[in-house]
Amino acid sequence: MNRPAVYAGSFDPPTRGHLDIIQRGLALFGTLIVAVGKNVGKNPIFSTAERIAMIEAECSGVEGLTVTGFDGLAVAFARTQGAHVLLRGIRSVADFESEFQMALTNSSLDAEIETVFLAPSESYAFLSSRLVKEVVLAGGKIDRFLTPAVANALETRLREKNDD
Ligand code: ADP
Repeated sequence: MNRPAVYAGSFDPPTRGHLDIIQRGLALFGTLIVAVGKNVGKNPIFSTAERIAMIEAECSGVEGLTVTGFDGLAVAFARTQGAHVLLRGIRSVADFESEFQMALTNSSLDAEIETVFLAPSESYAFLSSRLVKEVVLAGGKIDRFLTPAVANALETRLREKNDD
């Protein structure tokens, strides 16, 4: 039976690290639902619709992939989608702590939904959305971390914000 996996996150913005996990998750599960968090407590720089559109544009024509917004508990969302796996990435020891807590909490909320972790690809091991925003603000180059379309959108948005 082919049941989808859910890859939930803030994707603000989607990085090459996220796209790598999407690609590898698809290869593992065949069907992947990328769930873009609407309630990002982090004061997102891009709206949910913008983050969804960016991921869709980068993955257009990719079979087995759906990108959608979600609110509330990831396990509850996974259940509505008939998914039994939550896919996450762990980049560092710092990630491990919070990801481990989240996985145990999710498992106590719904024991039938498993969390599956992927290690990052080597080139993206230290890549985070927060870091790329800081690099752009400091005037650094980000082509290694973001696709050209996402890099343009981020540079434009941060420039607009700085002009406020
Ligand atoms: P961030 O932590 O960069 O704000 P998200 O909250 O959108 O990203 O992350 C969603 C999931 O993707 C998390 O499990 C996170 O650990 C994982 N992830 C983010 N960036 C990478 C990367 N470069 N390599 C592997 N996993 C990643």
